Amino acid sequence: MSPEANVSTASRPSSLKITDLRVARLRGTPFHSTLIRIDTDQGISGYGEVRDGGSPTYALMLKSRLLGQNPCDVDRLFRRVKQFGHHARQAGGVCAVEMALMDLAGRAYGVPAYQLAGGRFRDRVLCYCDTPTVDDGREMGRRLRQRMEEGFAFLKMDVGLGVLRGRPDCVIAPPGMLESSAVMHPFTGIQITERGIGLLCEYVAAVRGETGYEVPLAADHFGHLGLESCIRLGRALDQFSLAWYEDMIPWQLADQYQRLSESVETPVCTGEDIYLKEGFADLFGRRAIAVAHPDLASAGGILETKKIGDAAQDAGIAMALHMAMSPVAAMASVQAAAATENFLVLENHSVDDLERWSSLVTGLPVPLIEDGHIAVPETPGLGFEGLDEEVLREFADPGAGEPFGPTGGWDSETSSDRLWS
Ligand SMILES: [Mg+2]
Repeated sequence: MSPEANVSTASRPSSLKITDLRVARLRGTPFHSTLIRIDTDQGISGYGEVRDGGSPTYALMLKSRLLGQNPCDVDRLFRRVKQFGHHARQAGGVCAVEMALMDLAGRAYGVPAYQLAGGRFRDRVLCYCDTPTVDDGREMGRRLRQRMEEGFAFLKMDVGLGVLRGRPDCVIAPPGMLESSAVMHPFTGIQITERGIGLLCEYVAAVRGETGYEVPLAADHFGHLGLESCIRLGRALDQFSLAWYEDMIPWQLADQYQRLSESVETPVCTGEDIYLKEGFADLFGRRAIAVAHPDLASAGGILETKKIGDAAQDAGIAMALHMAMSPVAAMASVQAAAATENFLVLENHSVDDLERWSSLVTGLPVPLIEDGHIAVPETPGLGFEGLDEEVLREFADPGAGEPFGPTGGWDSETSSDRLWS
């Protein structure tokens, strides 16, 4: 067999060149996100996705830095553009480009992206699903049990100030603070009362009454409480053996995370807004969390997320993956999950629209999640063939222009990119 027998006949990887970068704005996947498509001079294209809620500009501004480059040089190009990313949504463009480069390199050489990241540790990826909150604990438990009947073996719910809304004597707050989401937790002055803690315990007890205790059940969205209230609430909820407490406080506060982890007996989790492995270093160094939870579309893409997982593993920390976007980002996440040993579970926010959501990409099973898992594909790149044009139009944001329309205005965007003098 010739060395290039497995290589796309349309492609000579060593001379492949990027010719275009275009975007398609989506809504309902389940939130707003933007697909990017990077085209080449050999007829193959790669896909990526800007983090939900992020601006397409974050990707488009990178186009002039990529035109004429070989997309197979994934790490070299990633290092060229990564200065244009930052935490949370600001990383969306850089991460979308990394996904598309890994997709292209995989398609050019005829291998799955996980193979470019060192090969796989598993052939299917466990998924956990978001489930919208209802105020009644038993009803919430029934909805979670329904998920279990659909095959999900890992669950998440919201437990916090949202459940206590409208109930007297549960929450103490300075004027206006409960309505604001712009003030970081330690500065809100919001506290939870014993009555509030008691009601949340009753809520989780009712949920566990329906789900039983054998299924992992994580908790998120506690509200913008100060650290001391988080510790009191966390200690009270420890009896329910939840899978993790997620984002109880902002990720930047590593010393507070350390105190939280040392004060409760449930795994503490954060990471969905952190950019690059360096962003996790303080949390890992202090052993301040038990579960790292990067979103691949903020963390730096497939290779960087694997590096984050490996660094977490060295510190005795597991890695779960946050994800609330289309099957493009989901499949990029599957690639990283397949290639990272300490991977635990991957999020999905589209379980109630799973068939339609899955149909956005072609060449993979519909529904994409079966028996609570996504099968790791053996097909090249991110694993799907392409996009279904009809389903793409259904998800296209009607106020955002033609999907993948021309972007010539970004061809010569320029600044002096060097970071030293
Ligand atoms: Mg979260």
